[in-house]
Amino acid sequence: MTPVNIILLGPPGVGKSTQAALLSKRYPLVTLSTGNILRAEVAAGTPLGLEAQAAIDSGGLVGDEVMIALVRSRMATLPAECGYILDGFPRTTAQATGLDRMLRELHRPLTAVLQPLLEREEVVRRMSSRRECRTCNAPVTVKPEAPCPACPACGGALFQRPDDTPAVILKRVAVYEEQTAPLAAYYQRAGLLAPVDARGQPADVAARLITAIELQRLQRRAEPVRRQRALGL
Ligand SMILES: [Zn+2]
Repeated sequence: MTPVNIILLGPPGVGKSTQAALLSKRYPLVTLSTGNILRAEVAAGTPLGLEAQAAIDSGGLVGDEVMIALVRSRMATLPAECGYILDGFPRTTAQATGLDRMLRELHRPLTAVLQPLLEREEVVRRMSSRRECRTCNAPVTVKPEAPCPACPACGGALFQRPDDTPAVILKRVAVYEEQTAPLAAYYQRAGLLAPVDARGQPADVAARLITAIELQRLQRRAEPVRRQRALGL
């Protein structure tokens, strides 16, 4: 079976990490989060990690070339039968074209670019209910009916990140939408974009994502045949 290679294109709070975890139960794949790769490389003190650290220390952003090299170094270690989910990358069309080149070289073509869609109000609502444990750092979602819950893992006190307030979240979502609209158009043109309704229970959303993936796989499989027919072969 050909591996399933996915980009999850959605704003913070749309449930990408939950969905990535559910999809990895259905398909042999790993989540490649640029944040995690970056932290691991910096901690290991690799040349790429040092370069990225220097950019961060000087108050700048890690450049596209370095980000792509980071993803590449991690992706190159995956077994051939293992697919991937890219979360948080690419963010711009410049990164997307760089990624395309890299994926061609590594022979790991995209299966689909999944775009979980949710109203802004719902994104804000979900993100406003996020807390973190002071003791074990576990992420916890609090329910409105339980205003002062403790960490289910260790009983520790919870806190809300200062950037998880409704006003800041709304701003982040707006910035995200503005930044990534060209990216969605880019993958739409490539025939890879699959918008998916992200409302409701995580298991239902996962089922919709899996349907979208399977549809894209069928299309990918039919492509060479269509091309041959078009050529009159
Ligand atoms: Zn805890």
